[in-house]
Amino acid sequence: MVKYYMLYITYPALQRLIGFKSRSPIISLYLDTSREKIARGVHIKIFKDMAKTIRAKNEEKSSVDDSLRRIQDYLRFEFRRNDKNGLALFTSLDAQLWEVFQLPEPVPDALVIESHPYVKPLFAILDRYRRFCIVLIDQRKARILELFLGEIEEIREIEGNTLHQVKTSGWKGYGEKIHHHIEESITRHFREVADTLLALLRENHFDFLLLGGTEENVSAFLPFLHTSLKEKIIGTLPVDYKADIQEILRLGKKAERKEKEERVGKILKRILEEKTKEGLVSVGLPSVLNALNFAAIQVLLVAEEYREEGYKCPSCGYLSLKEGDCPHCKKKMEKKLDIVEEAVETAILQDAQVEYGSKGLLKDFGITGLLRFRPPHHA
Ligand SMILES: [Zn+2]
Repeated sequence: MVKYYMLYITYPALQRLIGFKSRSPIISLYLDTSREKIARGVHIKIFKDMAKTIRAKNEEKSSVDDSLRRIQDYLRFEFRRNDKNGLALFTSLDAQLWEVFQLPEPVPDALVIESHPYVKPLFAILDRYRRFCIVLIDQRKARILELFLGEIEEIREIEGNTLHQVKTSGWKGYGEKIHHHIEESITRHFREVADTLLALLRENHFDFLLLGGTEENVSAFLPFLHTSLKEKIIGTLPVDYKADIQEILRLGKKAERKEKEERVGKILKRILEEKTKEGLVSVGLPSVLNALNFAAIQVLLVAEEYREEGYKCPSCGYLSLKEGDCPHCKKKMEKKLDIVEEAVETAILQDAQVEYGSKGLLKDFGITGLLRFRPPHHA
């Protein structure tokens, strides 16, 4: 059995889960693992209660039973909190699936059995976070930190060559020589930091870069950055190189919220522009589902709380709001309690960019998207 234990959820892992197909039922478990829940063992009791309800409803008893027992053993004997407030677990012993993710935020408790993993809560969390690289630059030192999923970690510390204290009084021209030496060592240091950042970008791939330090140092450092790094810069942090890590985290999170707001704002603006000129845009659920059926969605913007019932073809994945047979396979479509979730999953599988927006922002649309091309039956 392939087992994955991951502290962090990644986009490829999410795509792998959504694409996971099996004839056996798959159990998806979400648990709030905040400190007080774990301390009192509440999470195990909650799981047992949910499992009882599921057992009573489920027909394929034996395989589901085995999987549920395996989860219970895991929670009792193996699970470590690792300072994470949420847990997402996907398993089917028959399908050789066992994936565990620990999440920064608490998630509402849920136990779901379906033919595929239930990933919506996981995606909603992943959507809120991007990987941020933070560099605090000084003329001789630099700190590189990573902010991801609400947590900050110091990943590198770079110290340039130490400059010896030299008395500059006396010799004419000597001071100038020292000045030159200092400039050279700063240049070397900046170059080293820039190279390290580039290597980190290639290894870890981060989405955004934040620069911190004095204004003077930051602007002196900027020209050393490779174009691919410059493109990642979304702002500067008003902190000293020696700043406390909690302060860096606070400012980093603030920059993160601002970036998300701006990102959604920009998409919304493009959508409104396209809408005015009746361009490449889908507005509202019927139009978006049609576009997804033709893999025409490039960017999908969804109100976080938006839910609708609908239908999906079990064979080709055709999405519809109307009951009946799939127009392609002529198979009877299955009823889905939340077709919006199916739409989000389909879009992720089609490599579309998916963004959640606040309900207020999207109250007129619920769901909307930018199109790669104009699909047939577009309205
Ligand atoms: Zn079909």
